[in-house]
Amino acid sequence: MLHTVRALGLWMAASACLPVAAAQAPVQDSRWEAPKVSILAEGTEAETPCWILTAVETGPTVMIVGGMHGNEPSGAAAAEQITSWSIGRGQLVIVPRANVLALGAEQRRTPGKRGDEGDLNRHFPKESEPSAGIATALWGLVETHEPDWVVDLHEGFDFHRTNPKSVGSSIIHCADERAEELALKLIAAVNATIDKPEQRFDRLRTPVAGSLARAAWEKKGVRSMIIETTTKSHVLSHRVRQHRLLVHTLLKELGMQPSPATTVIGPGIAPDQIRVGIFDGSGTGKGAASTMRSVLEGRAGCMVRQIGGQDIRAGVLSQFDIVVHPGGSGSAQAKALGEEGRAQEVAFVRAGGGYLGICAGAYLASCNYDWSLGVLDAKVIDRKHWRRGVGPVDVEWTPLGKRTIAGGSSAQSTPLFEIQYANGPIFLPGELDGVPDFQALLVYRGELAENGAPSGIMPDTAAAIRSSFGQGRAVAFSPHPEKTDGLHALLHNSLIWLAGDSQ
Ligand SMILES: [Zn+2]
Repeated sequence: MLHTVRALGLWMAASACLPVAAAQAPVQDSRWEAPKVSILAEGTEAETPCWILTAVETGPTVMIVGGMHGNEPSGAAAAEQITSWSIGRGQLVIVPRANVLALGAEQRRTPGKRGDEGDLNRHFPKESEPSAGIATALWGLVETHEPDWVVDLHEGFDFHRTNPKSVGSSIIHCADERAEELALKLIAAVNATIDKPEQRFDRLRTPVAGSLARAAWEKKGVRSMIIETTTKSHVLSHRVRQHRLLVHTLLKELGMQPSPATTVIGPGIAPDQIRVGIFDGSGTGKGAASTMRSVLEGRAGCMVRQIGGQDIRAGVLSQFDIVVHPGGSGSAQAKALGEEGRAQEVAFVRAGGGYLGICAGAYLASCNYDWSLGVLDAKVIDRKHWRRGVGPVDVEWTPLGKRTIAGGSSAQSTPLFEIQYANGPIFLPGELDGVPDFQALLVYRGELAENGAPSGIMPDTAAAIRSSFGQGRAVAFSPHPEKTDGLHALLHNSLIWLAGDSQ
């Protein structure tokens, strides 16, 4: 069964202020207290939450910061995930999104500010006091909580081993023996997961002047390290997994008994929200996972994480209500999952999970490729002409589609409307035993028939379908509601059906 059963009302009523709402949720792990959330720089445009996680047993205090630089999203995502961990000893002080303005703009510096003025990680005390609002608030946390360690999560643009101009894939620690010893342990743990020698981590010395890590050590004697993943060549979930593993290893070495490193949404966090894992591994189109993420996160009531094939093979789907496969290549996504990952997905849906596939993700859900999941009894026809075109196509609601997924969309009271299409599957009913026939939500009325595709194949076939599968449910869209203005509600409404128990 799903983690929780959610009604439409709950979805609509959920607070827009997700982290704070989440923090008030009951926590099931008895080893620690419910996390406390405060807001740093409250009332300013830079305000951002700070999470305090306290174990029942005393132990070290570790401060974890992400998102100092807005074009280094892995640190923010990892720190956000770590807010849902539990610890058996000590305390965590976590600021996942230190520079919300830069993160929003996806750029290193605070928008509108140049040089060091816009670089939050140059604002910590060298000679005197910290020099800007959010830096003052972060420094205040160091003074108030007197952490034993400060860990700052960053990303470099390239692998340091092959490009010394970048600090990517390194740990930069303060000039201290214990820090050096632990940095080596962390590096050994992460390097054991990296096949290519040139992509492995190295140890670098002494954080730059003006950085939080440097100031914490020099001004307060707080041990510190900056953990740098590499943006080049790796999708977000891959880098976040490295950040999680490195922080997990540190906390374990410090005797704090953290949650497993595979924890991306711990139990007890946000029980009223739909937990959605968006696949971002190989085979997802460029920007497809983040586009999907921003569309789904646009509605309150939904907690989204990006996950990859390695995460899925490691069993993270048990932390989610719904898995989403966005556009790209169905066969490449299947390959990235591997046989084991595909088996995990099928088992997840059969046991009560939800599956949402868009275009490539719809191919993946189908039943007639060697690599497809078969969570829908839908066969793809005219497979030879899959490159039938990209552009808007007319679709029409079925009565079921209109009743269940039209609400709140611009097509709510329009029988025929355009939706973006990009080489999506053409479905007919399959012949899987023991899987219910699919129900159509949308039907193609127009068509694209390019690159040798015969005309007349696409019209009157189902463009969006749904079905139960075991205890779970699956929805597949051949076209792209997330890329069509006014149609995002089709996805939100699908999530509600996938996560709920309404007919
Ligand atoms: Zn950085």
